[in-house]
Amino acid sequence: MFTLHASGVGGGIAIGVARVIRRAARETPAFSIARDRVDAEIKRLRAAVARAHAALTGIREALPADAPEEIVSFLGIHLMLLEDPALTEQPARIIAAQCINAEAALARHAESLDGFFKALHDPYLSGKSVDVAQVIHRIQGELLEESDGDADGVDSAGDETNDTVVAAAAINADTVAEESAAVAANDTVANDTEDWRGEIIVADDLSPADAIDLKRRRIAAFVTDLGGPISHTAILARSMRIPAIVGLHGATRYLRTGDVLVIDGKRGVVLVNPDAAALAAYQRRRTKILRRIQALDSLRDAESVTLDGEAVALLVNIELPEEIAAAASGNAHGVGLYRTEFLFMNRAGLPDEEEQFEVYADVVKRARRVVTIRTLDLCADKQVDGGRVDRDPNRGADAAATNPALGRRAIRLCLHDLSLFKPQLRAIYRAAAVGQVRIMVPMLSNIEELNQLFELLAQVKRELRDEGARFNPDTPVGGMVEVPAAAVAADMFAHRLDFLSIGTNDLIQYTLAIDRIDDEVNYLYDPLHPSVLRLIKNTIDAGRAAGIPVSMCGEMAGDTAYTRILLGLGLREFSMDPASLLEVKRQIRLTDTAKLTAPVAAMLQTAEPERLKQMAEEINR
Ligand code: PEP
Ligand code: MG
Repeated sequence: MFTLHASGVGGGIAIGVARVIRRAARETPAFSIARDRVDAEIKRLRAAVARAHAALTGIREALPADAPEEIVSFLGIHLMLLEDPALTEQPARIIAAQCINAEAALARHAESLDGFFKALHDPYLSGKSVDVAQVIHRIQGELLEESDGDADGVDSAGDETNDTVVAAAAINADTVAEESAAVAANDTVANDTEDWRGEIIVADDLSPADAIDLKRRRIAAFVTDLGGPISHTAILARSMRIPAIVGLHGATRYLRTGDVLVIDGKRGVVLVNPDAAALAAYQRRRTKILRRIQALDSLRDAESVTLDGEAVALLVNIELPEEIAAAASGNAHGVGLYRTEFLFMNRAGLPDEEEQFEVYADVVKRARRVVTIRTLDLCADKQVDGGRVDRDPNRGADAAATNPALGRRAIRLCLHDLSLFKPQLRAIYRAAAVGQVRIMVPMLSNIEELNQLFELLAQVKRELRDEGARFNPDTPVGGMVEVPAAAVAADMFAHRLDFLSIGTNDLIQYTLAIDRIDDEVNYLYDPLHPSVLRLIKNTIDAGRAAGIPVSMCGEMAGDTAYTRILLGLGLREFSMDPASLLEVKRQIRLTDTAKLTAPVAAMLQTAEPERLKQMAEEINR
């Protein structure tokens, strides 16, 4: 038994069995092999292709009879590619010619195919390259899983890993004792007998696209080597209501498939192969947390109003259409952020206007309250699977990949590529005819973007009108304030828009110049930084002066540590992951805003981070 520590996400406790996966793209092992190993390596490659084929055939056979035609044909294409001898012949030739392992040969083949597809400058064929890349990725996965199995044997890599684990165990022995004692002391609830074990994914890194996939597979928790708690992958973990530990360097080395893990998302602890006493204590704590969450249910229909009578709107953030049910279960005032980019992930092509309309209209109908549909915020850490939609054949791959958070992301990408943007705007306007919708534009940084946006919106409306389409031309248009430039000049944006929404995840990233997905600078991510607080206040004041609503949809809005501070800054509309809504409501109902004015004003004048933390604690006490 030993513990590992990193950033915790999502509060709760999960207990389950580890499954270590490696994303081939990041960790492709590359090494030379002896000439007399060449035939065996080619055989290994062919066996991996056969296993990948068998696995996909199994998935196809298990499909229900009414599975959508697109899925059946998608699987058919991948099976056809796996059956094509050309896919193995070239990597086999590379193994023979260069005496390298099968994974590396596949990677080289994939690179040259990618270069070939790019050189064709044809969007349709580029789309097809995604299928080829995914099939190669699947074979890589088979090869890697096989080598993971080998690593369990007594080889030199295994010895090294075991040493590291022993060292980690020694360092953390005291912490384990402390954890068990703390858990045992706090727990009064009897052990429950529910089925609490699940699968816990341990990976080097997970993209938001991977996380969506995991969400559908109902895993219990995940642990990653890389990543920060405000990354989109972590945000998804919170919305999935599963605990996660991110930025745990070496997790994929220390942990083995089959290890029993306890994940404590609140404290950022992974307890590995716990003894019976520790396991029982954590089970009790997990039960206690579940009961506390259930107890919050009594607040479902309670008014969201402060002790001094200030009404506060509570909305939810959703990523997937099916999450609208969670919004309803918390009795939210609506959806304050619908991140539409997730509709574009994990698929071979982009959704067209009709598909988007159907999805948005369905969400709007089911919500029966306002739905704020955010236009595409792709790129930075949200790539569509298998490649970037903004890939420009005239720019080198490196240029496209440099500093994506500062690159052609969100509204910049949309205004650059109208074939991506226009169908979405048309679909949103049409969905707005079936219920209450607001359009929200991410990453605004200058007024010229607004000028272009309004011109485009006018054009889209003209076209819809000329076609006789059913749509709502009066759909409110708001903007996210998440770039410091927009927060500083919030008054200029407020006069042109129907509402503002503060995206603190990016606002903090850009204000403090720290990459939200880089765990090495994560310690600098500080929502209480006076610059951040002042920008939030400036935005709220600008909205009030212009007479438009200001909401907040960054993670800060769902964290009760900041609820009172935000109320003190004047915020009256919060949008958050559905799992946090009732906790935030509880905090609002326990707050007297009249008592917040002076301490929050004092925070805006304080520079010392430690003092700011103390002041926040005092406000929350
Ligand atoms: C934000 O930046 O705060 C936000 C809500 O948008 P996202 O997390 O999707 O970038
Ligand atoms: Mg953002």
